[in-house]
Amino acid sequence: MKWEGQRESDNVDDLRDGGGGGGGRGGIGLGGGRIGIGGIVIALLASWAFGINPMTVLGLLGGMDGGGQAPTQVSPQPGPPPTDEGGRFVRSVLGSTEDVWGNYFAARQQQYQAPRLTLFRGRTPTACGTGEAAMGPFYCPADQRVYIDLAFYDTLRDRLGAPGDFAQAYVIAHEVGHHLQNLQGTTAKMDKARQRVSEKDYNALSVRLELQADCYSGVWAKLSQEGRGWRLEPGDIEEALNAASQIGDDTLQRRSQGTVVPESFTHGSSEQRVRWFRRGLEAGELKACDTFAAGPV
Ligand SMILES: [Zn+2]
Repeated sequence: MKWEGQRESDNVDDLRDGGGGGGGRGGIGLGGGRIGIGGIVIALLASWAFGINPMTVLGLLGGMDGGGQAPTQVSPQPGPPPTDEGGRFVRSVLGSTEDVWGNYFAARQQQYQAPRLTLFRGRTPTACGTGEAAMGPFYCPADQRVYIDLAFYDTLRDRLGAPGDFAQAYVIAHEVGHHLQNLQGTTAKMDKARQRVSEKDYNALSVRLELQADCYSGVWAKLSQEGRGWRLEPGDIEEALNAASQIGDDTLQRRSQGTVVPESFTHGSSEQRVRWFRRGLEAGELKACDTFAAGPV
C-alpha cells in the first residue's frame, strides 16, 4: 500500500507524550457506548501482551453495562499532529476516510462531519471514561473520537497473526465506521436497546453493529482505490481480510481459552467478519451493509 505522499489529516492529536490533560486518572469507571475493534478476549490477549492484569481489564469492561461508577466525562486536550512515520501513516489513512466519506455524502446532498483521532500511550481520558491500551483501538461516540495506542499494531502483527499496513488501515477504517453509525443514529438506538434486552440479545445486536463497521470499512477500501487515494499493492486486500479473520470472536476465543462460546460473541466470527468486509468491498455502497435487516447475519 502506497500511503506516502497522500494527504494527511489535520484531525489527529498526538498525546503519546502524556499531554492528555485533565481527568487522566479518573478512576476505573468505563463509560458506556465505547466501541472497539475486538471483544473481551482481545483485552485478555492484549493485556497479557502489555503486562496488565487481565482481571483489571475485565472489571473495566464489566463496567460498560451501566453498573458501577459513572465514567469521567472528560475529553483529552488537543495535541500537536504526529510527525513520526507511524503517526503520519495514521494521518494518511484518516485523511483518506475524510476524502472518501466527504465525497460520498456530498454526492448524496449530505455533509460529512469527520471525527478526530487521538494517539495515546497506555491510558487516556475520554468522554466515555478512561481508555486503556489493553482494550485495543476504540471509538467514543460521546466525543466523536477514535482512540489508538499504536502498540496495538504490534499485538496485531505478533500476537494475533495479522501483519501488514493495510491490516492497520482496516482497523482505522473500522473505527471510522462506528463514527458513521453514530452520525446515522444507530449508536443511539443501540444504547436504548442495551437497557431493555437481555445480555444475550444485546450481544447479538453488537455483532450486527460490528459486522456493519467491517462492511463500511470494505466500502472505504473500494472507494479509496477509485479516488485519487491509495495505490493498493498485491496482497493488501488479503491483509485486511486476514486481520478481519484473526480478530473474529471464535478465533480469539480458541486462541485464548481453547473453547468457543457463540452466545458471548460481540463482534462476529472470523467467517462473518471476512464476509461482511468483502461485501462492502464489492458493493462500494453503504446500503449493502444492512446487517440489521431481519434474518441471520
Ligand atoms: Zn468495532
